[in-house]
Amino acid sequence: MLKLGCHVGMAGKEMMLGSVKDAISFGANTFMLYTGAPQNTKRKDVSELRIPEAKELMKENGIEEFVVHAPYIINLANTVKPETFDIAVEFLELELARTEAMGSATLVLHPGSHVGAGVEAGVEQIAKGLNMVLKADTKVHVALETMAGKGSEIGRSFEELAMIYDRVTYNDKLRVCFDTCHTSDAGYDIIHDFDGVMEHFDKVIGKDQIAVFHMNDSKNAPGAGKDRHENFGFGHIGYDALMYIMNHKDFMDVPKILESPYIKDPDNAKKSYEPFKHEIAMIRSGVFDSDMQKKILEEHGK
Ligand code: FE
Ligand code: FE
Ligand code: ZN
Repeated sequence: MLKLGCHVGMAGKEMMLGSVKDAISFGANTFMLYTGAPQNTKRKDVSELRIPEAKELMKENGIEEFVVHAPYIINLANTVKPETFDIAVEFLELELARTEAMGSATLVLHPGSHVGAGVEAGVEQIAKGLNMVLKADTKVHVALETMAGKGSEIGRSFEELAMIYDRVTYNDKLRVCFDTCHTSDAGYDIIHDFDGVMEHFDKVIGKDQIAVFHMNDSKNAPGAGKDRHENFGFGHIGYDALMYIMNHKDFMDVPKILESPYIKDPDNAKKSYEPFKHEIAMIRSGVFDSDMQKKILEEHGK
């Protein structure tokens, strides 16, 4: 069966238990969680995450696998502000420990932004940081995410990710998180030629390195370099192209994670509704529902 889920938060009293409950309520059989707010590094102690109860609930519901996403503000590529790099390294070390304690094998990481210093310097700094935290006995894989290339993001091309692999001592601890919105925005033609893109990826990195897919549609045309996600099937990539990847024989065992935008309330700018339950049902049905967003609003009395 397809390993399909979405990103979920981890907050409040229930922490990881709440994350698992959310995933189950959406009909997911895998998920990705943030260990706290994605924009900051405030985190609770592992003893407060309710890990045993969460694992028990996962087991009862046949969820075998999930991934963790490091917060966006970790920027290992920063050579301009030394304190940003130091914070990133320190946090990454703790996040790896949390990921292992929670029982996940994969920590997704945005490679980082070189903030003007150039790709070469940025890559060098990322590798330096990874070499500080990845040891011979590290149990968790760090999955470098393919990026859209907005601003000075590193990881827009597969070659840039390969440059990081080349410089990391224990690069058997590295993996890739393949984000469909980002790769399309970066200019790869995953819409008409996913197999061609994969052939290239295989030569540069190796397709066995893909540990997780972020199955996002894009609000922008291929090559836009923007990174704005759209609901599954409603953007420039489209339902058929996304489903081709979803059901690709080479990646049947790889978790597929949705990071779709919430549906905005037309009357209240502060309100929005999660789309995951509907998206997951639609994907499992194999049939596109062009009224999906409308139906979600109707369910909320709109
Ligand atoms: Fe990401
Ligand atoms: Fe992503
Ligand atoms: Zn994105």
